[in-house]
Parts: sequence; structure tokens; C-alpha cells
Amino acid sequence: MDLEKIKQRLLEKQAEIMLRVARTHDHIHHREEPVSADFSEQVTELEHEEIIHALDEEGRVELKRISQALQRIESGDYGICLLCGEEIGEGRLQALPEASQCINCANASGA
Ligand SMILES: [Zn+2]
Repeated sequence: MDLEKIKQRLLEKQAEIMLRVARTHDHIHHREEPVSADFSEQVTELEHEEIIHALDEEGRVELKRISQALQRIESGDYGICLLCGEEIGEGRLQALPEASQCINCANASGA
């Protein structure tokens, strides 16, 4: 397993999400125009806000996972399941480099 390559992918993913979260924040904070008087439009705008908030939270959770994965690369624990201590399959790590659980534990915990 090429840790340097995985680290690179994690860093790229991290930058991508940070950009997305930053844009989301921008969107929220710079939105100061008055809310539309039309009720159905207001509802749509509200749903839109909720989606943005959800994305933001999701982005933050993912960023945390990625930085933890990067830390595990540094400490030499990368690729070891946090729950059972078995090796996480290489195929799984290729698909999900920030994975902290093996496929069995992930399935068992529903994550
Ligand atoms: Zn496991």
C-alpha cells in the first residue's frame, strides 16, 4: 500500500471540502437581501438554507475523518481498524481513504 499516494489523496480531498465549506459559509453570511414576500418562495428558500447547513455539517464531519486518517498515517496506525484492530482491506482504503473501520465493523455499526 502506497501511503504517500493515500496521503496525497486525503490532502486533496481535505482541500476540496474546505473550499466547499468556505463557500457555504460565504453563501450564508453574505445573504442579506430581504426575504421574498411570496410565501411559497420563502419556503423554498428555507429548505435551501437547511440543505446548506446539512452540507456544512457533513463537510465538517468528513474533514474530521480525513484529518484523523492523516494523523494515523503519521503515527503508523493507518489502515488498522479502530474497532477490532484488523487490517482494513486495501480495496476499501482505495475507495474510502479516510475509513477508520474495516468493512465488517462498518457493516456491523451501520456506518
Ligand atoms: Zn474491524
